[in-house]
Amino acid sequence: MEIRQLEFLKHLVRFKRHVYLDHNATTNVSSHVRRKMNHVLKSCYGNPSSLYGIARRSAEIMEEARELVADAIHADSHEIYFTGCATESNNAVLKSVSNHFYPQKKKVISTPIEHPSVINTLEFLRTQGIVVEYCPVDRHGRVSLADLEKLIDEDTFLICCVLANSEIGTIQDIPAIARIARQHHVLVLADCVQAFGKIPVDVHEWGIDYASFSAHKLYGPKGVGALYVKQGSPFTPFIHGGHQEDGMRAGTESLHNIAGFGAACQDINKLLTHTERIRGLKRQFTQRLKEIKSDCVINSPEEHCLPNTVNITFPNVNNAGLMAMLDYRGIAVSAGSACSAQEDKPSHILKAIGLSDQATQETIRVSLGCSTSARDIRYTTKVFRDYVEGRILHVNMITPAQLNESILFDDQTYILDVRPQFLRRKLKSLPNSHEAPFASIDKYLPQLPKDKHVLVVCQGGYLSYIVAYYLRSKGFEHVSNLQAGVIGWKARHSDLYQEHAGRDVTVLQSAR
Ligand code: PLP
Repeated sequence: MEIRQLEFLKHLVRFKRHVYLDHNATTNVSSHVRRKMNHVLKSCYGNPSSLYGIARRSAEIMEEARELVADAIHADSHEIYFTGCATESNNAVLKSVSNHFYPQKKKVISTPIEHPSVINTLEFLRTQGIVVEYCPVDRHGRVSLADLEKLIDEDTFLICCVLANSEIGTIQDIPAIARIARQHHVLVLADCVQAFGKIPVDVHEWGIDYASFSAHKLYGPKGVGALYVKQGSPFTPFIHGGHQEDGMRAGTESLHNIAGFGAACQDINKLLTHTERIRGLKRQFTQRLKEIKSDCVINSPEEHCLPNTVNITFPNVNNAGLMAMLDYRGIAVSAGSACSAQEDKPSHILKAIGLSDQATQETIRVSLGCSTSARDIRYTTKVFRDYVEGRILHVNMITPAQLNESILFDDQTYILDVRPQFLRRKLKSLPNSHEAPFASIDKYLPQLPKDKHVLVVCQGGYLSYIVAYYLRSKGFEHVSNLQAGVIGWKARHSDLYQEHAGRDVTVLQSAR
């Protein structure tokens, strides 16, 4: 391999450290959970509905897991149904309960800071005749109990409220909401997904009717959720088929995932012992950020907040560029909930707490977890300091939505496509682009224009931003990276892709 090529590859592996600060998006699967799941995958392949020995063992494993989930949230095991994810749990309750009450009663009260699995389901139900009212929240995302109570009327059958918000961490007073609801004979669904494993959950003591949970937020597997339905509360199946889950949720059960969920719940008390340490690290982190950039705004509340979550606005710092820079240094944070990460719209949660569109684009969420160490926090704050104090070069980020005809056909923009040959065969290139594979990018440097805006693209937006930083380090002043790459652009602008992709593409010849 040539020396020039080696220089870029060295750049590629420069930051080997990995700091995961996005535990609200998902968590790693713990070794205890992995062991349990491996055992089930290896030895327990019987269908829990069958009647012979190996199937009976599968059925037992499922019931053990159900007990463990029930214990962790203080419910009875017959009140727990396994689902494919919490999105399904939320859908199941909202649709089933609406169906039960409509048309005698039509109104659901919720908050504007719910997860999309609630908001989008409610908006769908609105098209079916359900009346949805959102109770406003304050600057820190707290619901006023008095305002909530005022919204309740004779037509109301359900209040749906998230226990802890995933973007800002605000915890709602679910026991008080349930008390108010009971006085008015209204049912309550609490979305406990983000809070479970971070604060104690006690569905019986709180007196709620329904609650949703997801294993992957507490070091369990993805693809399995749970739904708590209080004994006697109305619930009808919304997936029809076999008799699984007592006839409430048809479909052969994902046994290894369910067993993994149970194992994760077995560790719940251990998880909760990390709370104070994590809260302390978060405090240190926010204090240091304030020292580094005194105008940063902490959107998460001081009180009634998840111990691990902090949401911060950095005035005049674009969050996409900041996240890419952090990612480049091995630090994973996010700008909002993972479910909205591919959207170009401002976060509905940040808007609901009063942030301007501009501020939502200057905001990131940091969520710590059990494995987060003081060293991780020191490293992350050092990277922030270097960035804010100008010791790290900036790369501009372009979202798929922003990449319209005026950028594609701008004379001053030079589109550099760094995908390897085999990926180019899968998706056509952007019009007007110049192809040069990333691994040998050094060989092409002399022919790239330093006086133009160089927009670097690749298939998914990862390799391109490494190349973008590399170009900055080589004296290119105006460099951008296309977030989510050609895949993201095609998804966002399928019309432009159909019309222009693959046109006027130049294959660069490497300098010898
Ligand atoms: N509710 C909240 C508050 C969440 O944070 C999430 C996921 O981020 C969900 C629901 C959806 O969970 P799942 O990924 O299991 O569908």
